[in-house]
Amino acid sequence: MKKILIAGAAGFLGSHLCDRFIAEGYYVIGMDNLLTGNIKNIEHLFELPNFKFYHHDITTFVHVPDDLDYILHFASPASPIDYLKMPIQTLKVGALGTHNLLGLAKAKKARILVASTSEIYGDPEVHPQTEEYWGHVNSVGPRGVYDEAKRFLESITMAYHNAHAVETRMIRIFNTYGPRMRLDDGRVLPTFMRQAIEGEDLTIFGDGSQTRSFCYVDDLVEGIYQLLLSDYHLPMNIGNPSEISMSDFAEEIIKLTGTSQKVVYHDLPVDDPKQRCPDITKAKTILGWTPKIDREEGLKRTYKFFKEILDKKAADNST
Ligand code: NAD
Repeated sequence: MKKILIAGAAGFLGSHLCDRFIAEGYYVIGMDNLLTGNIKNIEHLFELPNFKFYHHDITTFVHVPDDLDYILHFASPASPIDYLKMPIQTLKVGALGTHNLLGLAKAKKARILVASTSEIYGDPEVHPQTEEYWGHVNSVGPRGVYDEAKRFLESITMAYHNAHAVETRMIRIFNTYGPRMRLDDGRVLPTFMRQAIEGEDLTIFGDGSQTRSFCYVDDLVEGIYQLLLSDYHLPMNIGNPSEISMSDFAEEIIKLTGTSQKVVYHDLPVDDPKQRCPDITKAKTILGWTPKIDREEGLKRTYKFFKEILDKKAADNST
C-alpha cells in the first residue's frame, strides 16, 4: 500500500485530498496544527485502518516514522482574512514549513507536491496568466506575506529538485470552492452565500468589474492527483478558466438562493487583483486535464453545504 503524508490535512483542500487518496487505496498520514483547519473535516477518517493523524506544526522539525512514497504540502493560511491576521505564521509555513517537508522528502526518497497559488502572479499585467508570466507582486503590500511566501516555496522546491534530485511537483492553484470552505473565511463566494442565506445585502468591493474564475474542488483534486503521478516538475496552473465579473457573480448567487437582497458597493482593498484567469494549456496538453463541473452545478452543491450549516445554527440558536 502506497503511503502519503498530507500536510494541511484538516483544511478545506487537504481534507478533500485525504478523502481522495483513501478512496484510491493509499495509507494516508494527515498532519495539521489546526491553525485555520477544522478537525471535523477529517473526523470521519479516524476509524479507518489506513489513516492516522499527527497534530503538528510543520514549521518545527517534522518527523514521521513511516516510509513515505508521496508528500503533499497544503499547509498554509490561504484566505486573505487569515494571512492578514497571521502574517508571520504565513511566511514561516511557506519558508520553514516547506524547507522541513522538502528535507523529509529527501530523507524518505518521496515525491513531493507543493501547493503554490495564482497569487504569485500578483495584480497581473498579462491575461490570462500562463506559467511563463513572472508576476506583478508588491512585496511590502499587505498581501505580500502570502505571495512572497509562495514565491519562496517555489524557489526552494526548484532548488531541492536541482541540488538534491528530489522528485518535486508544483501546482499553482486558482480560486477553488466547494463544501468545507469556511463561511467566515472572507472570500467572496462564502461571503455572498452567507449574506444571501442570512438576509443581508451582498457586498462588492470596488465597482464589481473585477473578475475571478472559480474551480470546483473535485476538479482541482483530480488535477492534483494527475499532476502528482505525472513526470512534470515545473509549475502548473490548475483552475477553471470560466471568468466572471463580481457583479455578475453576485447576480448568480441571488438567483441561486432566491434572496430578495440587493448588492452594495464598498472601496476596493489595497492590491486587490483586477483580473484573474488561468491559462490551462499545460494541464490540458500534459495531463489531459480539464475542469468538468460547471459553476451552476458546483454552486448548487456548495449552497447545499452552507445552507445545512446555517439552518442548523439557526435551529440551535432558537432552542
Ligand atoms: P485552509 O486554511 O482550509 O487549510 C490549510 C491548512 O493548513 C489548515 O488546516 C491549517 O490548520 C494548516 N496549517 C497552517 N499552518 C500550518 C502549520 N504551520 N503546520 C501544520 N498545519 C498548518 O486552506 P485551503 O484553502 O485548504 O488551502 C490549502 C493550500 O492550498 C494552501 O497552501 C493554500 O495556499 C493553497 N491554495 C488554496 C487555494 C484555494 O482556493 N483554496 C488557492 C490557491 C492556493
